[in-house]
Amino acid sequence: MKKTFPLTHEQLTAFTKTYPTPFYLYDEKGIRENMRRFTKAFSIFPEFREHFAVKACPNPYILKILAEEGCGTDCSSLPELMLSEIAGIKKDRVIFTSNETPAEEFRYAYANGNIINLDDFTHIEFLEKTLGRLPDTICFRYNPGPAKHGCNSIIGKPEEAKYGLTREQMIEAYRIAKEKGVKRFGLHTMVASNELNPDFFADTAKLVFELAVEVKEKTGVRIDFVDLGGGLGIPYKPDQKAVDYDEVAEKIRAEYDRTIVPAGLDPLGIYWECGRPITGPYGWLVAKAIHEKHIYREYIGLDSCMADLMRPGMYGAYHHVSVSGKEDAACDHVYDVVGSLCENCDKFAVQRELPEINIGDLVIIHDAGAHGRAMGFNYNGKLRCGEVLLREDGKVVEIRRRETVNDLFATLDLDGVEKFN
Ligand SMILES: *Cc1c(COP(=O)(O)O)cnc(C)c1O
Repeated sequence: MKKTFPLTHEQLTAFTKTYPTPFYLYDEKGIRENMRRFTKAFSIFPEFREHFAVKACPNPYILKILAEEGCGTDCSSLPELMLSEIAGIKKDRVIFTSNETPAEEFRYAYANGNIINLDDFTHIEFLEKTLGRLPDTICFRYNPGPAKHGCNSIIGKPEEAKYGLTREQMIEAYRIAKEKGVKRFGLHTMVASNELNPDFFADTAKLVFELAVEVKEKTGVRIDFVDLGGGLGIPYKPDQKAVDYDEVAEKIRAEYDRTIVPAGLDPLGIYWECGRPITGPYGWLVAKAIHEKHIYREYIGLDSCMADLMRPGMYGAYHHVSVSGKEDAACDHVYDVVGSLCENCDKFAVQRELPEINIGDLVIIHDAGAHGRAMGFNYNGKLRCGEVLLREDGKVVEIRRRETVNDLFATLDLDGVEKFN
């Protein structure tokens, strides 16, 4: 996929005169158009929903745009449930897929009318004790263990993953939930991260569809929806191909027709909780080259660091880097493009072929719209950058300001320090 940026060099340069780097920029038009393609592809199912994984881009302005495009949310914590509420997401379109969940978070989700997705068999009893009953709708997270192979390194092998229930536990869980009066049932799984192969999702769908049939045969419980989790990848590298949503939908539909329809389970809701493909390609980290260093390697130092985007440092993840105004220049230099953290893994790009970078150049880090700003941190006293949104009318608006020193010190009682001896 050719890497693009939605502002011209002149537009970006003018913008940074009034709004200093570093910042995240999101493209509203790109997000909306992509979401419409995704929805259209899956409209071949009788009921389809995308619950955007809030953790990927926890900004209520973005959530509001996605809600307008028909999305619900998938939340992993109480603050994410609250963000969904702030963004006006309908309560029954919020799925709470948490793990090691504190009782008060279950209470909040239940009182709020959100769908609770349980991560363990023992949580049935925990939830019942916490709420005094079970909710009318419940979902269980399936861990297929050794039954699912070929998983990639971010999530790892299912049998080594802490998430979900085993196959035997799933059957027993639905039996118990039914006995206890639960009326609507979901079946969730998430076994991949950043996967680009459509066949992988068809295989996963087959696995959960077969389990839905087995649940019906063994317990009489009719599954109302399956939630295929997230994990649809994006082409971070220019030579990778984007996942064809139509192809994924059609391959899953073929499994649906083979398994779900003959078992009498049609209509079955097909849900996703994708984060990465929804906002990832439509967000960029924009920073400025402020230093160059010539030692054993050539370094370009940015005014940003891995506190703003930790994927390269944490996973060795590739993020494409381009230099504003030099898109067509020859990549005849080799640089490590680095941030200011006192950690040597703070490198946005390692030994990357790029055009010559001069001090003051605007450096664009691509595909940062999911798991980007969201994973930021304050180690080394770093203040995280803000976020701006390019509206469809071409205006750029701030949707999160940058952090200040006061934000960083907000949890400290500074008067207390003065008196402390
Ligand atoms: C992280 C996560 C997602 C979103 O994953 P993406 O790779 O961003 O699509 C969805 N569901 C659960 C349970 C997750 O942990």
